[in-house]
Amino acid sequence: MYVPLANKYRPQKFADVVGQDIVVKILTKAILKDRVGHSILFTGTRGVGKTTLARILAKTLRCENRQPNEYEPCGKCESCVNFSKDNQIDVIEIDAASNTGVDDMREIIESCRYKPTTGKYKIFIIDEVHMLSKSAFNALLKTLEEPPEHVKFLMATTEIYKIPETILSRVLRFDLKNVDSVLIAQYLSTICNQENISVGAEALSLVARFANGSIRDSLSILDQILNVADNNSLSAEQVREVLCISDDGDLLELFALLMSSNLKDSVKKYREIISNDISAKAILSRLMDFVYFVTCAKSNLQIPDKNLSEDSEDKLREIAQNASLSSLSRIWQMLVKGADEIKICDRQEIALEMLLIRVIYASHLPDLDEFLKKLKVNSFKVSENTENHDINSQADESGSLLEEAMRSFPGARLK
Ligand SMILES: [Zn+2]
Repeated sequence: MYVPLANKYRPQKFADVVGQDIVVKILTKAILKDRVGHSILFTGTRGVGKTTLARILAKTLRCENRQPNEYEPCGKCESCVNFSKDNQIDVIEIDAASNTGVDDMREIIESCRYKPTTGKYKIFIIDEVHMLSKSAFNALLKTLEEPPEHVKFLMATTEIYKIPETILSRVLRFDLKNVDSVLIAQYLSTICNQENISVGAEALSLVARFANGSIRDSLSILDQILNVADNNSLSAEQVREVLCISDDGDLLELFALLMSSNLKDSVKKYREIISNDISAKAILSRLMDFVYFVTCAKSNLQIPDKNLSEDSEDKLREIAQNASLSSLSRIWQMLVKGADEIKICDRQEIALEMLLIRVIYASHLPDLDEFLKKLKVNSFKVSENTENHDINSQADESGSLLEEAMRSFPGARLK
């Protein structure tokens, strides 16, 4: 039977959790000291291990064989076995996204009064807790203020800012990090070994990069790519094909053309890349990486992408020599804003082409300092000059400069 990799390799104990060392350290110490709080909140982006950690913690707290000097669940007792089979009466998992109302919460609170059928703790795992309604949060708050001894609340959220302060002040909060792409690539390599898949470092680092810090996503992507793999072997080329990503060589060429404001060749190169079924989103995302890397290089900071080839890094450093920090930050702003536009556009490839054209036009505009200097000189000339037509033409020039500035500094507002 086919089991998705993300399910098959879902961590069953703390030692299996990847990339959350500090959280794991604090939790396991708390378990050893028998000081695990009544209400714990895990926060972080999707797929970083929030619910997984909540489940492992629940499993550990309810494990029947665990000794006081151990922090991992045994995996063999009735409770652990039932847990693996999703057959636990005393661990109640609630998806707040579909149980948002106060009545759902009242039901939960009501059941808190009863002791667990077996073991020491009755555990509630509330996923996406930020989705609860205001009245549901209020009902929950009362229980969090005076929780029964035998109850633990383990909550998870991707949107911490939507959780009321009153709740936050009563929970122990753990912020989960996005997992480093190098760590994800290492992890995928061990999974591929176990699955007898032969795969190179470049292919793995591409998958890891595309997963954006999420272990779960990285496994889902790997699953997706394995559908097209022959004889259990995976090449970087196949990964690119499935994920619709271009290699850095082509994208760097496009980036260099953009930075040198070469409109015609930029558009030509862009159309060539996109015609190979590379997604607009993937192109934009890598271009944004490049802007960031060049800004790092320009500021004498280390370029943090450990998967970047030496050639690519040399090329980026070369581009950095001719780029100004203000134009880099302007391009960055435009790409960030453009990313939102592209998301809502049906024809993403056109939206990105328009965005690139805009970036090139904006690169001809003066920097803010330069513009302000020009503006000062012009207003001085206007006040000096008394002839009407001259005033008008100077004012026109100042006006159009102002317009230019408004276009080039999207965040700017006229006072
Ligand atoms: Zn056990």
